[in-house]
Amino acid sequence: MPAKNYASTRFSGLDQINASNVKKLRVAWTVSTGHDRGHEAGPLVVGDTMYFVTPFPNDLIAIDLNNPGSVKWVYRPRELATSAQGVACCDVVNRGAAYANGKIFFNALDGRTCAVDAKSGKEVWVTHVADYPHGETITMAPLVVKNKVLVGNSGGEMGVRGWVTALDAETGKLAWRAYNTGPDKDVLIGANFHPFYDSDKGKDLGVTTWPHDAWKIGGGTMWGWISYDPDLDLLYHGTANPGPWNPELRKGDNKWTAGIFARRPDNGEAIWFYQWSPHDTFDYDGINEQLLLDLRIGGEPRKVLVRPERNGYMYVLDRATGQVLSADPYAYITSTKGVDLKTGRLINDPSKAPGTNKLASDICPAAPGAKDWQPSAFSPRTGWLYVPHQNLCMEEEGAEVNYIEGTPYVGANVKMFAGPGGHRGEFDAWDPVLRKKIWSIRENFPVWSGALATAGDVVFYGTLDGWFKAVHARTGQLLWQIKLSSGIIGQPITYKAPDGKQYVTIAAGVGGWAGAIVSGGLDPRDPTAALGFVNAMSDLPKATNKGGVIYTFGLP
Ligand code: CA
Repeated sequence: MPAKNYASTRFSGLDQINASNVKKLRVAWTVSTGHDRGHEAGPLVVGDTMYFVTPFPNDLIAIDLNNPGSVKWVYRPRELATSAQGVACCDVVNRGAAYANGKIFFNALDGRTCAVDAKSGKEVWVTHVADYPHGETITMAPLVVKNKVLVGNSGGEMGVRGWVTALDAETGKLAWRAYNTGPDKDVLIGANFHPFYDSDKGKDLGVTTWPHDAWKIGGGTMWGWISYDPDLDLLYHGTANPGPWNPELRKGDNKWTAGIFARRPDNGEAIWFYQWSPHDTFDYDGINEQLLLDLRIGGEPRKVLVRPERNGYMYVLDRATGQVLSADPYAYITSTKGVDLKTGRLINDPSKAPGTNKLASDICPAAPGAKDWQPSAFSPRTGWLYVPHQNLCMEEEGAEVNYIEGTPYVGANVKMFAGPGGHRGEFDAWDPVLRKKIWSIRENFPVWSGALATAGDVVFYGTLDGWFKAVHARTGQLLWQIKLSSGIIGQPITYKAPDGKQYVTIAAGVGGWAGAIVSGGLDPRDPTAALGFVNAMSDLPKATNKGGVIYTFGLP
């Protein structure tokens, strides 16, 4: 699975490549994907085959590891709707595939989930789950739990209504769907729902915490990561920002957006919920990765969920109950003043709230948050998280906006810029028990790639201008780097090949929201392009060029 395991640690026990010899890494083989939009996916290795999903048109490429660099087959979903590209907010990325029971599962941008025979590349089933003319797309990597393929939608900037859906892995038939706004019966909230905090208790809060009917076009999509605890039999998924961005148009807590659900995989029923950002005013989608760890907190062993959240706080939650055990800033924050551990609520700064024709300035973190979708890793050898993230602030002004199906529903003008220090990215080691940063690497551009930690005490990540780096897990010391043909927004992996040797793979291919100025050829003179991200990235086109290439590195 993309995150390596259900706990989403992205930690590999392989140690042939280690802190002493990583400097000898060299290119073993490459495969061009033939596509030039943002490559956010991590490859999967199953047996002697590597699988990779490209951005739209979502080719599933199978690479033969017995004959490295040779392509076994390519599966492309049939009759792809090219107009789906027009409703994708921020490039036409795909975040990867999942494997189970001889099949590869992945999502196509135009709203379909595909199951493909892992050996032959033949289609097993395709299920239409999202409606792109309505503004829904799919970019996330599915997770397979108990023979169910879990999928969520994108389109929070298009006035869609968020959901998570489970499909039968053998047939593709709908098992259940849970909406993230609306009446309890749609959200699959029933007798077994026990949120920890009072503000999440009550009937039909997904309706009553919105102005009349606003929940029907209120966002709360699920385009990020899902984790699963087999012992508690709970799956965990976040929910994205409420829409539109202009908060005046949706007074209230806007449940169940910008939060996290624990659900039963069998029927989807909600067990608990916690809201990171009630009445979110900054596009702080709550869909980041959650790492399920067993840690000693205050001397006691606790089953926790660690979430580097978009709003800038590193949360540690009891994953059985949803109680917040700690929430500490891991980035520069002006937008809020902390988290009240008694009520669980984020403490807002009213002076930072944008409104219609009301400009709020120096909002940190900016709309992509202190960290966006790019997943962290955790090493049990150090006990630390490795967190790729941004150092961006913004100004935001609300604007009038009317809902028109299948068109942007944002109502805000945004300009982003570098945070304090002038660097736009960071790569940090964070101790979730001591609740502090251990070391930090400053990067010129936002670090939009995932992280990988290994038993060789090496941590890998990539930069938007194309440097693929290995750093020491304990010190952050740069051990090795190589400049690739395009900026890196993918997820590094490591694996043992049929020849018995360890390799490291990363896809280059700049793009995504941060790199859309390059992959989408956006005009650097328009600061509000890409929802204001272009203002912070006008120098990226000089630093890298587009084009997808899968790179694999090995020792000589
Ligand atoms: Ca969003």
